[in-house]
Amino acid sequence: MGGSFAGRSCLTSGDVPGIAGQTRGFFSVLEGLSRAAETVFGVEHEFIRFPPLMSRRTLNKIGYFRNFPQLLGSVHCFCGDETAHHALVAADSAHWTDGDEPTDLVLTPAACYPLYPALAARGAAPADGYTVQVRSHCFRREPSAEPTRMQSFQMQELVRVGSAEQARTFQAEWVEKGPRFFEALALPCAIVEANDPFFGRASPVLRKGQRAQNLKYELVVEINDNAPPTACMSFNYHMDLFGRTLDLRDVAGEPAHTACTGIGLERTVLGFFRWHGEDLKQWPARVRNLLGLS
Ligand code: 5GP
Ligand code: ZN
Repeated sequence: MGGSFAGRSCLTSGDVPGIAGQTRGFFSVLEGLSRAAETVFGVEHEFIRFPPLMSRRTLNKIGYFRNFPQLLGSVHCFCGDETAHHALVAADSAHWTDGDEPTDLVLTPAACYPLYPALAARGAAPADGYTVQVRSHCFRREPSAEPTRMQSFQMQELVRVGSAEQARTFQAEWVEKGPRFFEALALPCAIVEANDPFFGRASPVLRKGQRAQNLKYELVVEINDNAPPTACMSFNYHMDLFGRTLDLRDVAGEPAHTACTGIGLERTVLGFFRWHGEDLKQWPARVRNLLGLS
């Protein structure tokens, strides 16, 4: 089994698998990568930094729970009155969550999800659609000792909203541009067609028998020793899933088509440590420059 490589000393594991602290070096590389990605994605585009929480209603509308129930993190809070609180505190602490109820919040599983309702609230999209950068902490309930599989990680994305053609063209462009970005960072990579479609196995899109091909590509990098390469970027075409379910309209008033290009910041940083070593000062000068480390 793979999983270990020298660079994992840049992470400090605690008592929960997949939740790790980041050293100063790791964090400075991550922020440098985020700025480099922002430049490559295009600083001229609108940028929105979302908090790690989003609306449960939105996630239900897009069918996340139907497709990925095991991954969802849900915010529950104590909703009882003072008497109920006293009773719980007096009881064994194992029962302290008995008064909890689900709130209207869930943990964001993908950085682009909160964007769609925000854009829908603006009304129909302009003629050339939207191109927006987003960044967020994301949560997926996948506890694992494998260092590139984190429960909490950050994703930076460029999101395209518009016609089917605009979204498709965007996806095709980024399948080309993504590897060029990684080559500039001296990270060897490959593009693969992802076999787990964005929509999930229970998706109505798949049930209808529509071709679900070419909806998702991934850029993979060898990070773990003796293990398959790890997805560091993904290039997704969602068709009109978000347009339909979240009432996000194109200029003609039809459900908009969307696409996104996402980079997993932590995973890519692990890729740097794997390929360039633990000592940041020894990294190739052009990589240090791109990351703003010099
Ligand atoms: P996707 O939405 O395509 O599953 O994920 C987008 C990107 O987020 C992936 O290409 C990857 O870089 C990052 N990512 C997805 N899952 C994980 C994870 O469990 N841990 C970490 N660190 N990054 C992840
Ligand atoms: Zn996305």
